[in-house]
Amino acid sequence: MTRERLLDLFKNLQVWKRHGVRAPHKPLLLLLALGRVLNNKDRLVSYSEIEVPMKGLLRRFGPPRGSFHPEYPFSRLPRDQLWDIPGSENLFRIPGREYRVRELRDHDVKGGFPVWVYDFLRRHSDIARDAAQGLLDAHFPESLHDEIRAATGIPYTWEVRETPKRRRDPAFRRHVLREYEYRCAVCNFDVRLGDDLIGLEAAHIMWVAAGGPDKVANGLALCGKHHKALDRGAVGLKAVGANYKVLISSEVHGQSEPVRWFLDFHGKYLRAPRNRLVHPNPEFVRWHYKEVFRRPPLA
Ligand SMILES: [Zn+2]
Repeated sequence: MTRERLLDLFKNLQVWKRHGVRAPHKPLLLLLALGRVLNNKDRLVSYSEIEVPMKGLLRRFGPPRGSFHPEYPFSRLPRDQLWDIPGSENLFRIPGREYRVRELRDHDVKGGFPVWVYDFLRRHSDIARDAAQGLLDAHFPESLHDEIRAATGIPYTWEVRETPKRRRDPAFRRHVLREYEYRCAVCNFDVRLGDDLIGLEAAHIMWVAAGGPDKVANGLALCGKHHKALDRGAVGLKAVGANYKVLISSEVHGQSEPVRWFLDFHGKYLRAPRNRLVHPNPEFVRWHYKEVFRRPPLA
């Protein structure tokens, strides 16, 4: 069994991404399972034990939806050869069909990596960490990686090998910052240290992981705070005529003064570039509103 074959299974994960619709169920369950491997836990975990943590992960890092389905990956991951439910043939008779939550709970169904995958990952924790990094890169923007690692028990490491997927187009950052005149499009932040900008970033509106391009029309210059908030769905955008207004999610709250750095910008116009040709593309803005922004916005 080679490292490459195993990493390929993770890479070739069948995730429903038609029109960029996010389905992070499989990656999140696999990250939880990798966290278990890296924390010396048993191979199998019962559905009941993992249901609440999975729901929490889907709520925090998945798209805003009316309901969450932690049971989906239990039925679907076996087809990717990365999940094993011992005895499922006897329990469910028709292999490969979707399990209902009641069935998974009532039969105390347990699942986990297939034995060979689990044994291999236990022997090679560096490969488990690479697999986790590959899942993070393929399904989530970098600004969320630390939080997802913490939530799934994946230890942070400096030794993660660079995978080819972790490419960044340096021109994207350069062009976005220039068009936005080196200021945050939400709050105007433009702090420099000497000649260097500190804390100003080029954000993607439609995530690269969801197929968003490295184009200025899919970018925003944002301070670190508002970049993170955009990727988490605390900040969103709404088209008003030919311009955009900033939306703040009604879930944003806090006791301290800095919470004003969010609430005060609700309903304000985005500082878009002078050049209309590079304004945010409505298609990417709609994607962000549907797949990332924590609706409803503040009243
Ligand atoms: Zn800002």
